Amino acid sequence: MIFIKNKYGIKFLRSQLGHKINSKFLGALIIPLILSIGIVPAIPFSAGVDIPHLLPVCIDKVWIESINGRIACVTPSTAEKLVQRGWGTILDEIMEDTSDEKSITPVISGGTLPITETPIIGNPEKEFPKNYVPGTEELAEDEIRLTFLGTGMPFPTRNQAAAGVLMEFGNGDILMFDVGSGTVANFNSMKISPAELDKFFISHLHTDHQGDLDMFWAQGIPFGRILPMNVWGPTGDGHALGTQAFVDGLLAANYWDLKSREGNIPTSGAEIITHEFDWTTTQVVYDENGITVTSFPAIHAMAGAVSYRIDWNGMSVVYSGDTKINNFMIEQGQNVDLLIHETFLPAEILSEKTGMTLENAMVVVNELHTPAKAAGVVFELAQPKMAVMYHTWVTDETITPIFDDLRIPYLGPATLAQDFTVFNITPDSIVVRQALVDDAPWPIVPEESAHAEKSDEVPVIPQWLEDQAIDVEEAIKEILEKRHG
Ligand SMILES: [Zn+2]
Ligand SMILES: [Zn+2]
Repeated sequence: MIFIKNKYGIKFLRSQLGHKINSKFLGALIIPLILSIGIVPAIPFSAGVDIPHLLPVCIDKVWIESINGRIACVTPSTAEKLVQRGWGTILDEIMEDTSDEKSITPVISGGTLPITETPIIGNPEKEFPKNYVPGTEELAEDEIRLTFLGTGMPFPTRNQAAAGVLMEFGNGDILMFDVGSGTVANFNSMKISPAELDKFFISHLHTDHQGDLDMFWAQGIPFGRILPMNVWGPTGDGHALGTQAFVDGLLAANYWDLKSREGNIPTSGAEIITHEFDWTTTQVVYDENGITVTSFPAIHAMAGAVSYRIDWNGMSVVYSGDTKINNFMIEQGQNVDLLIHETFLPAEILSEKTGMTLENAMVVVNELHTPAKAAGVVFELAQPKMAVMYHTWVTDETITPIFDDLRIPYLGPATLAQDFTVFNITPDSIVVRQALVDDAPWPIVPEESAHAEKSDEVPVIPQWLEDQAIDVEEAIKEILEKRHG
């Protein structure tokens, strides 16, 4: 095995001898090397902070390199299978590389730095604190703050919610693109009232893109929203597969939830206005306060998936949702400020980590989604100011392979989004940071919301049930009497 280190830290491993060695021996070999050479990240970072780093140690497993140079840490049995299939060779020697090649130094989710080599693009007019702390920074009139509330998969974790992007504009408007499971909890740490977020754009109806819409709806009713919620989303192949049917179904499924609140608290915010639009057409689906949202078709799983382009004040952001790479994206993404494109982890790692067969993993990654190399093609052809990858597992085992694949076709500025990666966009600059948030926030409820009108009809609990309720004061009196004799 050849273990290659350059002056920016540990970069990658490369095979030479191609025969297997004992994995414990391998671990024993790598750790002292790491200790002896030391790792000093030297990527210039304008905020002047230390960049944490990860050690690519593959304990009790083996490193394997694919024929196209991808490195993965897998179990010995998987490695054998991969070698048998001709995927690559097992690595087994260590040496140091003195080349000057620059590599990404990753920070896993929960870290305080964004995963990018270019945290600042252009010339920001103001100084930004190292981290974004919600509620502490006013937006400039011509500024957009875009925050990832979820970057993950149909397998939300405490590290990563499913898909969701919050956009706050200098004119006070707030829009949300996708509301995957887990995004509502992250939103609640943004110090924004549920009363202020009532515009949701859904890219397609997979649960990892809409799973928290019900909770956004429900929490808004007691905690601030008194106006109807608005949901934009695509048609499908027939009414039952479109956004209108989805929203109607959501309200039907949550009818008990609504009826139980009516009369007890104000419920005017329970209404949802659905704006369903033809998914096959590239068209402006929203145009208010100078902000336009354009929908265009995405190639994902079946009919009814779209991507969005958002334009305001000469700035532009494209959000892919889920899609295979396509010409609509290249056209809409030309020179935008942020091009957010889904970027799946390599099929080999998906297979290794999830038990999915390599064959199925390759279908998921290459046919239903976009692997990093393909995302790199989009970025290279569209030339955004900043390329943004999302919709993958962000771990110490995926970051380097994703960037290595991305860099084959694309060399420009790129960020791998984590939950709470924040982009401040102005006409002259893009600044990327991580937000540091309060994990136990209180809801922010405007006073007028708390005093909104209630329905006259109060839900009824039958008398036989009410009769079984316990009077607290009576009960405490009895308990105290018994205690004191
Ligand atoms: Zn999907
Ligand atoms: Zn998805």
